[in-house]
Amino acid sequence: MIKAVLFDMDGVLYDSMPSHVRAWSETMSSLGINASEEEFYMHEGRTGHSTIDLLFNRTLGRDATQEEKESIYASKAKRFVELENADSKPMPGAMEVLEKVRSMGLQRVIVTGSGQETLFGKLDSNFPGIFDKNKMVTAYDVQYGKPHPEPYLMGLGKAGITADEAIVVENAPLGVESAVAAGIRTIAVNTGPLKDQVLKDAGADIVLSSMQNLSENIEKIVQKA
Ligand code: MG
Repeated sequence: MIKAVLFDMDGVLYDSMPSHVRAWSETMSSLGINASEEEFYMHEGRTGHSTIDLLFNRTLGRDATQEEKESIYASKAKRFVELENADSKPMPGAMEVLEKVRSMGLQRVIVTGSGQETLFGKLDSNFPGIFDKNKMVTAYDVQYGKPHPEPYLMGLGKAGITADEAIVVENAPLGVESAVAAGIRTIAVNTGPLKDQVLKDAGADIVLSSMQNLSENIEKIVQKA
């Protein structure tokens, strides 16, 4: 029996991925480190520090120092805030999904690789009465981050449930991998530019086209699980 739905944040609850990708792209290319936009969508879910190390290794043949990671992540986060114009955009359909999950009596848990404080601060105003600050896993809680199962295992712990009592909603391949590795049934909502097959290959049980589509199907999916 399902007792909780674990939600990823960017690209699921917020339509924030285009700004994240642009902020990453601009910040890294200003350091002479180039990567395609699609690559940032493929890395989505990693902690910022892990993404920085990966690109540093490819271009410079070494990890970034702790100081470099902190300063680069701070620049990226600052640029993200400028791009969003301090105006976070909830994903169309997200509130409908959350309302249905609440009315079914299921816990709502957030499991995100993000450390973007501006979005955490807005959860209560964008989604009133839905989330509990004690039931969130963020970049600050984890050692490994997605695609490691750690973040979703921590999410299960915070909800006090086992893997077969949860469903995950994810949009990113590495997020799907993380949830599947934690043994949780995973619904992918493909809100970005990647092909559905990438999410299926990552292990998603179902791939839907949008959060609106999920809101039309969430009750059936929970009952069948
Ligand atoms: Mg995401």
